[in-house]
Amino acid sequence: MDRLSTKVCIVGGGPAGMMAGLLMARAGLDVTVLEKHADFLRDFRGDTIHPSTLDVMEELGLRRAFLALPHRKVATLTAYVGADKFGIADFRHLPTKNRFIAMMPQWDFLDFLAGVGRRYPGFHLLMETEGTDLIETGGRVTGLRARTPEGDVTIAADLVIAADGRHSRIREQGGFEREEFGAPMDVLWFRLGRRPSDTDATGGRFGRGSILVTLDRGDYWQCAYVVPKGGDAALRAQGLEAFRAAVANLAPFLGDRVGELGDWDAVKLLTVRVDRLKRWHRPGLLCLGDAAHAMSPIGGVGVNLAVQDAVAAANLLSAPLLEGRLTEDDLARVQARRMPPTRMTQRLQRLVQDRVIARVLDGSGAPLSPPLALRLLGRVPWLQRLPARLVGLGFRPEHVAVPHAAAP
Ligand SMILES: Cc1cc2nc3c(=O)[nH]c(=O)nc-3n(C[C@H](O)[C@H](O)[C@H](O)COP(=O)(O)OP(=O)(O)OC[C@H]3O[C@@H](n4cnc5c(N)ncnc54)[C@H](O)[C@@H]3O)c2cc1C
Repeated sequence: MDRLSTKVCIVGGGPAGMMAGLLMARAGLDVTVLEKHADFLRDFRGDTIHPSTLDVMEELGLRRAFLALPHRKVATLTAYVGADKFGIADFRHLPTKNRFIAMMPQWDFLDFLAGVGRRYPGFHLLMETEGTDLIETGGRVTGLRARTPEGDVTIAADLVIAADGRHSRIREQGGFEREEFGAPMDVLWFRLGRRPSDTDATGGRFGRGSILVTLDRGDYWQCAYVVPKGGDAALRAQGLEAFRAAVANLAPFLGDRVGELGDWDAVKLLTVRVDRLKRWHRPGLLCLGDAAHAMSPIGGVGVNLAVQDAVAAANLLSAPLLEGRLTEDDLARVQARRMPPTRMTQRLQRLVQDRVIARVLDGSGAPLSPPLALRLLGRVPWLQRLPARLVGLGFRPEHVAVPHAAAP
């Protein structure tokens, strides 16, 4: 198996790649998705399935089967500032049937998409296969080389999609120019047990110089401790006991179990970056998801933007690919459709980063008091529908418009 040929070769079996692969195979295309790992099991990835993605699952007739998988529903988000508690987002009034975030391990989501994809004859998922080098002919990308446990393989394709995440190798090879926006923080992820008696809600806790986000995952709390950019080493130098105390200080109800953090291996660093490509395409090559735009963790929108990119790409590219008339203008249409919501989402994230996160992390100013916006949201619950809409549905929710050509 040293040579393969396919219509679309997708590098990366994350949310963008798997959804694009499934939709294109469903439209009748021959699609090969390459995933370098042997499985999807990686902890602390984006585990939030937002209403916009649930709507896509519904449009595919998959909602019921998908929500039969174990998940936790989050219908509201809360902020805690000292002893005060404020509602900040209420998903229960969204103009959709899916009025909640489904917290589900990303590997379950990806396994589910893989299972559905395999029902279509044109869907091929090659695990343990790493895209390594683009192949170009006459200035056009015409395929790529990949590494497999059995040896190297050459894959010819009408279109290569780089969906290989925020450190995309394929994007680098494509020579794309990236705009970097910076972020004032990094995030440390860990988990602590959840007790049936816990009454606290999913949300953020703001203290002087520190922030802790706690996500209710049923039998555990998924926790994100936000540190100033590059502050991970200094925090670790203070020792685990100091870290445990800082967590308990922000979330006193966790004080009886911070001892579960036995060593630093249990704490994983996410280096936050916010960037996007100026141009997402070249002849024969298109970048989607994190490869085109790494999002800030604010709002937990990364998975969902990746899925929306995939839906837009399948909607706009399936017909030209099926009819053998794909041009770079078609790829440009995908960018033209997805760039505005990406730009607007990042602008909002950067606003929150600069106006809220950076100020809280600075920690040197006046005693921490809830900002006016937070107090307003708390006092006028109706206003909580706006953040819910921005987070849950985003600026331009995509809908599946590609015909269902291949019967499962
Ligand atoms: C710790 C952490 C927490 C996060 N929390 C959230 C959250 O709560 N909510 C949220 O929405 N988002 C979150 N995100 C972001 C979210 O995970 C991403 O935005 C989203 O997964 C992007 O999807 P993607 O398909 O574009 O890329 P990825 O999910 O990065 O998928 C890329 C895939 O490509 C594979 N790959 C890479 N290179 C190659 C190659 N050369 N050949 C073959 N395969 C390759 C990788 O193994 C991976 O499976 C988090 C990210 C991290 C790191």
